[in-house]
Amino acid sequence: TLRVRFAPSPTGYLHIGGARTALFNYLLAKKEQGTFVLRIEDTDLARSTEESVQAILAAMEWLGLSCDEGPYYQTERFGLYQQKVMQLLNEGKAYRCYCTPEELDAKRELAMEQGRKPKYDGTCRKRSDHPDAPHVVRFKLPNPDGETVVADRIKGTVTFRHEELDDLIIQRSDGSPTYNFVVVVDDAEMAISLVMRGDDHLNNTPRQILLYQALGYQVPEFAHVPMILGSDKKRLSKRHGATSVMAYKDLGYLPEALVNYLVRLGWSLGDEEIFSMTDLIDKFSLEGVGRSAGVFNPEKLLWLNSHYIKTGDPERLAQLLLPFLGAEGVSIAGGPDLVAVVKSLQERAATLVEMAAGAAFYYRDEVIFDEVAKAKFITIEQHSMLTCVRDVLAQQNAFDHDAIEKAFAKVMEATGLKFGKIGQPLRVVLTGGTASPGIYDIVQILGKERSISRLERVLT
Ligand code: GLU
Repeated sequence: TLRVRFAPSPTGYLHIGGARTALFNYLLAKKEQGTFVLRIEDTDLARSTEESVQAILAAMEWLGLSCDEGPYYQTERFGLYQQKVMQLLNEGKAYRCYCTPEELDAKRELAMEQGRKPKYDGTCRKRSDHPDAPHVVRFKLPNPDGETVVADRIKGTVTFRHEELDDLIIQRSDGSPTYNFVVVVDDAEMAISLVMRGDDHLNNTPRQILLYQALGYQVPEFAHVPMILGSDKKRLSKRHGATSVMAYKDLGYLPEALVNYLVRLGWSLGDEEIFSMTDLIDKFSLEGVGRSAGVFNPEKLLWLNSHYIKTGDPERLAQLLLPFLGAEGVSIAGGPDLVAVVKSLQERAATLVEMAAGAAFYYRDEVIFDEVAKAKFITIEQHSMLTCVRDVLAQQNAFDHDAIEKAFAKVMEATGLKFGKIGQPLRVVLTGGTASPGIYDIVQILGKERSISRLERVLT
């Protein structure tokens, strides 16, 4: 059965690109009833932080990417790695290298001067002594004239000539194992059957395949997912806007919008655009993953977000909106029903930040007026019409949509004005501005008392 993994290095937040890799792995595992393993690659002690581990876990949880196994931490597995280094040393497949950094630098410079690709020259391969001096452990490149073929599930067949490679360091002089080594030991020991990751790791793959073979492990399948680029076709970075998953949460995006966006960025199924997680689990496959990089398009992400806000469950959106209202300084205590407020804004808000800003007028004690709108729409000539609205509303017992519609029919009849002349001044009175949901919705949601008191405030 399929076993896949996501293996982030906890040296920062969860990036959009990493999230997509995690998502693809998750979807494939769910679809094939396989296992999704999470492994935290924290061997780089200088750059890894607990804070980053927590940030990555929180982002995965927010996106709904729960793992079936893990998280495993590489720092808890050093004993295993050491054992495997010893295995290669004992079998003569690795050797201790005592070349000092200065010596290596000098050789590298010489190679550059002579126009050769700098590669370790294998000096210590021939040593038989083991002095008690600082050393790294290197993997003896097998068959230096040969080649290794990666049969990638996305990229197709990629051939690497060994003359491009050299004797890889698998253990540093401080005793810590290196990335290419631990990733192989872990993927093999965790019985990962398909390694799916960013294609920035494609060049590491031949080295890793040689290590699997040397360690007597079965080589897994590989699938290298193309990078995500910015609009200028450069690798996506902060210059292109927010790149962290949780930044999108804070900007008021829904996780289902980000999931839908990320999966479509690099995977397609005909012309379909909207995919729920359940659809994706049903329909995702590696065959739909393209070979070339996807370009990050913030407008499309925003469009998907507005789609999910429009079609979302109002109760859930109301819950999600609470922190955003807090950030706006809006307290909903004693105010109109939040679910009704959400329903009135779903068509209009593209993000929860916009929705919170749009909801604020319902809850403020004092309407904050857009002065231009106020000067234009609430003139002294409007007072008799607004007084009429107040009086008619005051006589209303029922306050449902129908009753309110009938009340306004009465106002139109009494004043001889068309609705267009009534709606906009009233909107400014009730909301402070000219852009808002439909006037009947506003009156209904505010309720009789609040609507009348807002009218009174401009009439006195
Ligand atoms: N830890 C590596 C990274 O974050 C990923 C390694 C892999 O997927 O093989 O880039």
